[in-house]
Amino acid sequence: MPRPDVDIAILGGGCAGLSVAVRLAAAGRSLRVIEPRETYCEDRTWSFWRTARDPFEDCVRTSWTTWDVTGPTGTVRRASRDLRYQTVGAGAFYDRAQALIDDTHGAELCSGTAAHDVHETPHGWRIDTDAGQLSAGHVIDTRPPRRVPGYGQFFLGREIRTERPVFDPGVVQLMQFRPARSAGVDFVYILPYARDLALVEVTSFAPRSPGRNVFEAWLQEEIDLLETGRHEVLREEHGALPMQVGFHDPSPDGCIRMGLGGGAARPSTGYAFTRIQRQADLVARALDQGHDVPAALDGPFSRFMDRVFLQVIQTVPDRGPALFESLFRNTASDRLERFLSGSIHPADRLSVMTSLPVLPFLRAALVPA
Ligand SMILES: Cc1cc2nc3c(=O)[nH]c(=O)nc-3n(C[C@H](O)[C@H](O)[C@H](O)COP(=O)(O)OP(=O)(O)OC[C@H]3O[C@@H](n4cnc5c(N)ncnc54)[C@H](O)[C@@H]3O)c2cc1C
Repeated sequence: MPRPDVDIAILGGGCAGLSVAVRLAAAGRSLRVIEPRETYCEDRTWSFWRTARDPFEDCVRTSWTTWDVTGPTGTVRRASRDLRYQTVGAGAFYDRAQALIDDTHGAELCSGTAAHDVHETPHGWRIDTDAGQLSAGHVIDTRPPRRVPGYGQFFLGREIRTERPVFDPGVVQLMQFRPARSAGVDFVYILPYARDLALVEVTSFAPRSPGRNVFEAWLQEEIDLLETGRHEVLREEHGALPMQVGFHDPSPDGCIRMGLGGGAARPSTGYAFTRIQRQADLVARALDQGHDVPAALDGPFSRFMDRVFLQVIQTVPDRGPALFESLFRNTASDRLERFLSGSIHPADRLSVMTSLPVLPFLRAALVPA
């Protein structure tokens, strides 16, 4: 039987591809990551409440213990003794992943190379790439989703250095709700790194993006409101993340799908970094132990809760700001943050469920859209 070129081919060297590659390389597997980008840059920041360990803890740029949500009736401030809201810069993440891969024998990152068709063969897989054919025992496909989600999180953000010290570096502005410009729920998000340095982002949870021009004008208005004096734009980021239960690209049987196209974005928030780390742990463990990879990250109850929540904010978007404010105001300390980070602990779920108004949720639970 011909031996494949590598044990595992990983298509895409972004967050999911590199996260699983470093785990598999550390376990001594031979692998190749196929990535079209020639070089990496600081193209995004990943923020999340840390609830588990991962190989990128050294890449945390800033941590916060306090965060605000401002809704229709005022500002809710939440502080935690145990949980940290953390930001990982993509530049540090990519450097760390490359260093961990370079440190092992048998693992290689092929940048400047795109993957195309994938074919199953009697001995594994054959992948057509810009650099010719590659054979592998397993394929992990982390390329971006081919589907357009029916609902999503859309955003435009700029990291700015301001003339005047206008930010409070101790408190993340998680959601400052605004009258909607999209057909959904709109808010501003501010990650303050210093008194004169922050990422300011305008975000819509909506069926479609309001468009670049609307976001540009809105972001400029928000920056003007801060009365920064002159400001310098250091970096820009934008995104469109699926918020849909069961968002998962079809893939040939036996080809492992990971990342956004593999259902990694939390349906009720669009956030994915911590779920990608969990997916990477699950995939690496399954390949190591010769098990099947679990198909979905969420159990039926989590899918049900996300479906009901999404249905309410999609059908009555005007109530979205009040619902989020109510969640942050009424859910017990840390429980909401752990729930949003993927906790399935019954006490966390119960605390979240009892913080929401009964009627719209009951209706959505009983009558699926
Ligand atoms: C600007 C931005 C900010 C975000 N912030 C957060 C956050 O704060 N918290 C959070 O939890 N989530 C966040 N997310 C969501 C999510 O964590 C990221 O999108 C994450 O990068 C998704 O990982 P991924 O591996 O699925 O996709 P990517 O990281 O985009 O990786 C996909 C890779 O596939 C490669 N590729 C494309 N075509 C091919 C091809 N033909 N062959 C091979 N490779 C190919 C791409 O070059 C890319 O490297 C953010 C997303 C964006 C865009």
